[in-house]
Amino acid sequence: MKKYSNKINKIRSFALSLIFIGFAIMYGAIFFREHQILVLIFMTLGLLCIIGSTAVYGWIGLLSTRAVQVECPNCGKHTKILGRVDMCMYCNEPLTLDATLEGKEFDESYNSKRS
Ligand SMILES: [Zn+2]
Repeated sequence: MKKYSNKINKIRSFALSLIFIGFAIMYGAIFFREHQILVLIFMTLGLLCIIGSTAVYGWIGLLSTRAVQVECPNCGKHTKILGRVDMCMYCNEPLTLDATLEGKEFDESYNSKRS
């Protein structure tokens, strides 16, 4: 079974891993010290990853303003819902804004099909 998690959290961890990948690539340039062109390529790639991560972070900020804040019925914490169905950020409780989907089994495809 596929594991679901909150979308904003998912994107955020993606952006974070992009930063680490960027630094790892830049660190890798050290091993090619003798080849200036390779160092340059690695540095550029690393920098691109970090820039990309910044862009993703900006995108999360944009998404967050459109997300609906709700109180999770399971853990009582405030979480943000993106799309028709999403998971609680803290306890992964499936949440929906659509009354017709209430009680139905969680399915992420509700977000992509029909608008
Ligand atoms: Zn919760």
